[in-house]
Amino acid sequence: MGLIVDVFPARSDNFGYLVHDTASGRTAAIDAPEAAAIENALLHRGWTLTDIFITHHHIDHVEAIPALKAEYDVRVVGPRGEADKIEGLDELVAGGETVTLGETVFDVFDAPGHTLGHIVFHDKAGKHLFTADALFSLGVGRMFEGMPGPMWEGVKALRELPDDTLVYCGHEYTASNAKFALSIDPDNKALQQRAAEVDALRQGGKATIPFLLGEDKAANPFLRADDPILARHYGLEGADPADVFAAIRKGKDNF
Ligand SMILES: [Zn+2]
Repeated sequence: MGLIVDVFPARSDNFGYLVHDTASGRTAAIDAPEAAAIENALLHRGWTLTDIFITHHHIDHVEAIPALKAEYDVRVVGPRGEADKIEGLDELVAGGETVTLGETVFDVFDAPGHTLGHIVFHDKAGKHLFTADALFSLGVGRMFEGMPGPMWEGVKALRELPDDTLVYCGHEYTASNAKFALSIDPDNKALQQRAAEVDALRQGGKATIPFLLGEDKAANPFLRADDPILARHYGLEGADPADVFAAIRKGKDNF
C-alpha cells in the first residue's frame, strides 16, 4: 500500500502529475495544466480521477479544472490564499493543514514568493514532495508576487524535510538553473556533479524530475542563501540570508 506517482509532459513545458493511493484507488492530479494530457495519463494507467490538488493560480496550473470537473466527479482542493483567483475550488487549505487522498496524508506547506498563496504538498510517509513553481531542481520560481524574506523562509522550511524526499516540480528548468548556479558557485562539487548528470539526462531526452531533496540542498543556491560562500560571492558577508536570497533571485532574473 502506498502512493504511485505518474509523471507526464503537459502543455509546452509543464510536468503533469497523477498520484494514486493504492489502498483506496483514489487518484489526484497535482495541478491541472492540460485536460488532454491528464486524460491520456489516466487512460494509460486505468485510473479514474477523484481529486485535484492545486498549488497556485497561474493559468498553466489551473486551466483544465473546468474541463476535468465536467468529465469526472472530482473534489478540487486549493490554496486558501488564492481562493479568489481560482475558479472551481471545493476545499481550501493553507500551510500547517493536511489533505487526504484515501489513506495517504499530505502535509500542506506555505511557499510564498512565486505567487503569494503558493502551497506545496508533502506525502510524509511516501517521501514525495510536490512543489510546482515554488522549488525547482537547482532553482526556485520567479518571484512574481512575494518578497525575498518570506520566500526564503518558505524554502528553508522545505529544506528541513528528509534528504531522501523525492521532489516533483512544475517545469523542466534544471539545465538553465544549473548554468546560473555554476556561475555563482563554481567550486561546489555537489553542484558540478548534478550539472553533469543533468547534461547527460537532457542529451538522452530524459526528464531531470523527480530529484532528491538532499542533493538539491547541497547544490541549489536558493537553498544555500545562508552559506557564507554565496554571501561572499555577492559581497554580503554577515548579511541576513534573506538579503543573499534576494541577490541570488535578482542575479538569476538578469542571467
Ligand atoms: Zn507559476
